[in-house]
Amino acid sequence: MTQVGTDANPLRVAIIGAGPSGFYAADHLFRARDPVVEIDMFDRLPTPYGLVRAGVAPDHQKIKSVTKVFNRIASRPNFRYYGNVEFGVHITLADLREYYHQICYTTGAQTDRHLGIPGEDLVGSHSATEFVTWYNGHPDCQECCYDLSQERVAVVGVGNVAVDVARILSRTPDELAKTDIADYALEALSQSQVREIHLLGRRGPAQAAFTTPEAKELGELEDADVACLPEEVELDDLSRTALDHNPDQATIRKIEILREYASRQPTGKSRRLVIRFLVSPVELIGNDAGQVVRMHLARNALYATEAGTLRPRQTDHFEELPVGLVFRSVGYRGVPLPGVPFNDKWGVIANHKGRVINPDTQQPVVGEYTAGWIKRGPSGVIGTNKPDAAETVAFMLEDLIEGSILNPAQPEVAAAERLVLERQPDYFTYGDWLRLDELEVARGWEVGRPRVKFTSVADMLAALGR
Ligand code: NAP
Repeated sequence: MTQVGTDANPLRVAIIGAGPSGFYAADHLFRARDPVVEIDMFDRLPTPYGLVRAGVAPDHQKIKSVTKVFNRIASRPNFRYYGNVEFGVHITLADLREYYHQICYTTGAQTDRHLGIPGEDLVGSHSATEFVTWYNGHPDCQECCYDLSQERVAVVGVGNVAVDVARILSRTPDELAKTDIADYALEALSQSQVREIHLLGRRGPAQAAFTTPEAKELGELEDADVACLPEEVELDDLSRTALDHNPDQATIRKIEILREYASRQPTGKSRRLVIRFLVSPVELIGNDAGQVVRMHLARNALYATEAGTLRPRQTDHFEELPVGLVFRSVGYRGVPLPGVPFNDKWGVIANHKGRVINPDTQQPVVGEYTAGWIKRGPSGVIGTNKPDAAETVAFMLEDLIEGSILNPAQPEVAAAERLVLERQPDYFTYGDWLRLDELEVARGWEVGRPRVKFTSVADMLAALGR
């Protein structure tokens, strides 16, 4: 048997999940001087790009240009894409061990964290991550339904996802019509009666998770006035001292922006976006029909932990916020994959710097790796996944040199292709995706939009004449 990683016997790698971290992992493997690698990338959807397609806000088209990089990676002759092939359904871990030397899981974080308060499951209380996948046309969410006849909405959390949701709810139909938002979402949001959006941060302005450009963008909306409460953008003593010790320019700028919002007068725009700080919902209250009608909010004060982090603590001051729609935007959470060790507390695959580990022994599981959000949790921007994937790939290459890889019975490229064809005849190649991409862009061109997405797998297949 020739050495693995040569022309005669390439290193066979399966990457599960076609989002940014999957593509960056493939790129790092291709860039390594050695070995010769043959990569098969799987995704449960026909379409690649993960959150770049289904997460990045439709009014942030520039960010989506990173897909050109992904297309370049996919154009390598030693790369194959198997879309519409689900791990655990069409192919199992046992299958992959038969066909590959190494497996890398890059499935991201597909669900959301919960608040854990009474009333969280009332009608009208939704996860923001689900709303995001809905307006982005993800096939899982076409049936989702949001009562946009409500006038007042609360978005819990002040991360960039919360800001995306608040901004999309604040945009005019004309603003949205210039984007690649799903057609059904464009129609629903065009009829929206939402007039007031409350973004609720549990800590102060210095701890807000949203980034400065996102904060600034909220002040530039065509038909929504932005506001902050003056008393809530003043720093408390602990935050002031922390900022004096560590005068982080981005935080200082963010606070300046928020103070300026607190000084603004309403200009008569038809919507109002209010950014609140130091408040936490403690209960959602419903009417007889089980529909959320208001929120019981506690005011918080900050305290310093032993590690020096400033955390929120509930005070005995409360207020009521009448709301008919609530979006919980308190972070994504990873979903376990069948047969793959999972750290339930953190919502990630059990791993050490990208090597999957057996939680009982803490020893690496031979041949299995992970990168991206399912490795480290839902943090950082798209580019953060590049160094993250590099760390994982370094271990993959090190383990190859050590000979610590799987010993597949059928490492040939054609053998895996036969397996996929047998299990999922309707699989998508990258060529199929590029054809679908052209069709979406052409549909968009006709109506002056960047693209009009196909939002169901059946429509995607039909578009390619399947
Ligand atoms: P995130 O940045 O972690 O923000 C989560 C927010 O939820 C924080 O404000 C957090 O407050 C709050 N929170 C958590 N538990 C809470 C609770 N029990 N009650 C009230 N509030 C609670 O998460 P994300 O917004 O989902 O974003 C995920 C990642 O994607 C981030 O790295 C983000 O920057 C990135 N992203 C980037 C962009 C962009 O670049 N434009 C767009 C979207 C997402 P605490 O800080 O107090 O914990």
